[in-house]
This record gives sequence, C-alpha cells and structure tokens, in this order.
Amino acid sequence: MFLLFGKSSNFILLFFIFLIVRSPPCILARRTPGFRWINFPVTAKGYKGNRDNIERFFNATIGSHITGISEIKKHFHRFGYLTLQNDTFTDTFDARFESAITRYQEKLGLPTTGKLDYPTVSQITEPRCGVPDTVHRLHATRHYEYFPGKPRWSRRMPMRLTYAFSPENSINHLSLSDIRVVFKRAFAKWASVIPVSFLETEDYGFADIKIGFYSGDHGDGEPFDGVLGVLAHSFSPESGRLHLDAAETWTVDFETEKSPVAVDLESVATHEIGHLLGLAHSSVKETVMYPSLKPRDKKLDLTADDVEGVQALYGSNPNFRTGSLLESDISTNQGVDYRAGTSTWAISVLVLILCLYV
Ligand SMILES: [Zn+2]
Ligand SMILES: [Zn+2]
Repeated sequence: MFLLFGKSSNFILLFFIFLIVRSPPCILARRTPGFRWINFPVTAKGYKGNRDNIERFFNATIGSHITGISEIKKHFHRFGYLTLQNDTFTDTFDARFESAITRYQEKLGLPTTGKLDYPTVSQITEPRCGVPDTVHRLHATRHYEYFPGKPRWSRRMPMRLTYAFSPENSINHLSLSDIRVVFKRAFAKWASVIPVSFLETEDYGFADIKIGFYSGDHGDGEPFDGVLGVLAHSFSPESGRLHLDAAETWTVDFETEKSPVAVDLESVATHEIGHLLGLAHSSVKETVMYPSLKPRDKKLDLTADDVEGVQALYGSNPNFRTGSLLESDISTNQGVDYRAGTSTWAISVLVLILCLYV
C-alpha cells in the first residue's frame, strides 16, 4: 500500500495514525471520594442514628446481652453472614455472632476486630445494595467476586443486550428522559470495557434487561424497606431484572435535589448493571461493586478491579486501552495523565521518525 500511493500518501496515513494514538483514553481513572465515617440524619431502623445510639455496642463481648444485637444478627443473616439456627435471633453476643462479625469485617474491608466497634456498626447502618455478599476468597490479589457457578450471558460475541423501563413501575419526581440518559451512560461504561453493547428498546416484554422502580414487597421475595436501608437489587445472569426502591429520593443532580437522603441514580445503576453481567460484591471500598453507598455520594467510574472482574467473564472490548486504568486505585488524575501522556508522546515521536525515514 505504501508503494502504491507514494510518499505523500504515506505521510497522510501516518498523520492519521498520529491522531488516533493522541485520542483520550476510554476511561479516566478518577479516584472516588474518600471513605468518611459519618452518621446519617434520617433513619428507618432503631440502631441507625448518631454515635450515642450505637456506643452501647462497642464493648460487647461473648456473653453480653444488648438490645439491638438481634437486629444486627438479622442484618448479617439477610446479607449472607449468619444462618438461622432457631426460629429467631436473640440479643446475645455469642461465638457464632463473633465469627459473623469477623467475616463481615473481612468482606467489607474493615479492621478485623471481631467486635461491634464504630467502623463496623457505622457500616451496618449505611445504605446498600440488597444483593447478599459472597463470602469467599479464592485469590489473594483480586477483590472482585462472582455469583456461585460464575453465571454470565452466554451469547455469541460480540454480544448485544436490549434493555427497557417498566411502563407501570416508575417514579414521578424524575422524568423518564432523565432516567434514560443516566442509564445510557451507566451501560456505556461497562460496554466500553467488554465486547457487549446495550440497546434500549420500547418492547419491555421482550427486553433482555428489565428496569423498574418498586415499593415494599413486589413479588420476588426481596421486599424493599423504605427510605435508605436497601436501595436497589438486581439478579445474576441471565435473569436481567434490575429493581430500584421507589421510596428513595433518586436524583440525577445534587445541585437541584437538596434532600439529605438523596441517592445518586447513576452510581446505583452502574453498580446494579455489574450484577446483571455476573459480578458480585467487591471488598474494595473504591470499586463500583462495593455494596454500600452513602446518601449524596457518587461512585461513577469503574476501577481496575471492576474492569478485571468483568473482562474475566466476557473478554476485553477491542477498543479498550488497558493503560487507561493502570493502578487506578492508587493513582491521581495527574499520575494517570502523566503516564498516558508519556506513552502517546513516545509513539508520536516514533511516527515522526518514520515519516522522515519514508
Ligand atoms: Zn450490589
Ligand atoms: Zn425486586
């Protein structure tokens, strides 16, 4: 081809290669805001609230009886840390409860004290995803997890999945167009790293992924619980159901929504799509697949851990550039920009030398 079109054409071709390698990376490795131990002003559960309300748990040891421990046991049971032996949970701190606390602390990336200390009780009170946590570590260097049996969508690659919004199960305080924009962005993040694309369809009945807002008991055995607590849940492949708690103050813009219990729709949508694709909860706080999210907080960008997890299921999108996520968990924007800049400039210099040579 070079011989066919002569030196001027070669220069134009190389110029286009130059432009392509100078294009920005698919994903910016922006670090999510730091983890802060704060208490929430609004609560639906008795043990939620300020530090005074939870201090009574801090010195509990085996044999202690403290009102509220049964509620924490229910919470551990709900999310996969404690099995129900008798018909009910008591307020007694026993050995099984202590080992459940330890497993919870390990999974959520907390100091493993086996005690109901401040970080642990605060974490328990934090709003979260309704999908139970998977508690097993197969590999010490990774933190992402899969559902039992490692289910994934099993269609031919590259794969296209359709999604639709339930016409009956929606909310009034956000427009459908705002919701659609948010979900389009959330799906695009995952599509940019794996060879899977997502297309909105009007045909709700035949859509692969069905999205809706539901209140309380809505028929799938996982009732929602009102403001905060459980925010949303979705199902492992190839179910395709993504449910959001209609009782939450969902928002697409914290500037206009001032409620202290406002929840960022895009952050939760991005997390729940991870479940739809086959990812379970990660134990790294910065990842999208970490199970909890504070009100008025955002966690929008996939981290290296999220990307490695989903790419191990589906492979990489051919357009995905690994360098864009290098060490994203420990990098600042500047660090990543510097690395990306260095590599593209090195290629640019190489292209210019080639131009001169040709
Ligand atoms: Zn989740
Ligand atoms: Zn549901």
